[in-house]
Amino acid sequence: MIPITAVKLGPEVERAVVEVVRSGRLAQGDRVERLEREFARVVGIPHAVAVDNGTTALVAAIRAAGVGPGDEVVTSPFTFVATLNAILEAGATARFADIDATDFCVTAETLEAAMSERTTAVVPVHLYGQCADMPAIRDMAARHGVAIVEDAAQAFGATVAGTAAGAFGIGCFSLYATKNLTTGEGGVVTTSDDAVAERLRLWRNQGMRERYEYLVPGHNWRLTDLQAAIALPQLAAYPQTLKRRRANADLLTEGLAGLPLTTPRRMPDREHVWHQYTVLVEPDSPLRRDALAAALAEAGIGTGVYYPRLVHDYDCYRGHPRVIRTGTPVAADVAARCLSLPVHQHLTDDDLDRIVAGVRTALRREDVARRVDRRRDDGSTSRPGDQSVRAK
Ligand SMILES: *Cc1c(COP(=O)(O)O)cnc(C)c1O
Repeated sequence: MIPITAVKLGPEVERAVVEVVRSGRLAQGDRVERLEREFARVVGIPHAVAVDNGTTALVAAIRAAGVGPGDEVVTSPFTFVATLNAILEAGATARFADIDATDFCVTAETLEAAMSERTTAVVPVHLYGQCADMPAIRDMAARHGVAIVEDAAQAFGATVAGTAAGAFGIGCFSLYATKNLTTGEGGVVTTSDDAVAERLRLWRNQGMRERYEYLVPGHNWRLTDLQAAIALPQLAAYPQTLKRRRANADLLTEGLAGLPLTTPRRMPDREHVWHQYTVLVEPDSPLRRDALAAALAEAGIGTGVYYPRLVHDYDCYRGHPRVIRTGTPVAADVAARCLSLPVHQHLTDDDLDRIVAGVRTALRREDVARRVDRRRDDGSTSRPGDQSVRAK
């Protein structure tokens, strides 16, 4: 099986971890500091504050932006649930702006249309590793005096017009196991605002600057040196990681041309870090999304659906007094048709050939028809919910 994500850490990581283990200093220390310096350098801003995970990064950033109860925050409905949960945990009310199907992100226009008098922040999500149109969003936010918190969990190293994800507002990154750069669990907040950075550092460490001098009620949001040690060698190799992911994405796009799929678009002036390579299955495809995923699984090719439903489309958010659900037809359509194929840096040329051949075979109309006929001859019926067989 070619997995949709793969974590392979080399001897440099093993050595770095052993060093920390032998030092006996496992908690936050100089490795975390180094990780923060590197993050700040890559993002091109003065402050990076490491925290225990990406969800914490979002909660901390939203609060640090001054958002609290009574405020509304507008975000994407097509995201991981952490984005919504963070808004709720900060005490704010969530509203949703539709996405653009070309880059899967909210736009300045859709955000503006979803804003109300009570909106104090917007949270664009740089989905799959490509930034939203941040220059336009920054202008719009400035015009309305609302803060920007970027959910850059999937977009470390991505840029728009030369400015990095996480440098347009308060940036939130995740180092979770499946992200481009991982420590198992981990997160980073980036900011150019000295006061925001100071607040984040205090909150992260029980409100202390000096030991047992509590300045504000705080938390324990610290990352460990053990985790930072895992990240540092990956950071050094990150340019190569991105090069591989970009080359893989190009090969997939080339190989999948001419099929009833919309391949992902690299937007002009944006550097994509290819956290996911996501296609949209066209309405005239002989297989719908779930059937294509099943056919690929059979061929030994792992895929992912990010995300199968809009983030608020679950019972636990239905009727929630601080979740305002509005129609976002583009996001709903994309959720029904998106499929991510492996694009990670550990794919071999052979893997890439197999992925392309697997998709091409699965979507060959005569083969689909033959499979349908065979199933009919067998007298076998399709499983409930399996919509693989569509008259064509
Ligand atoms: C991974 C992710 C998060 C949350 O990060 P954790 O480290 O898992 O808490 C938030 N938003 C998006 C879009 C993500 O992909």
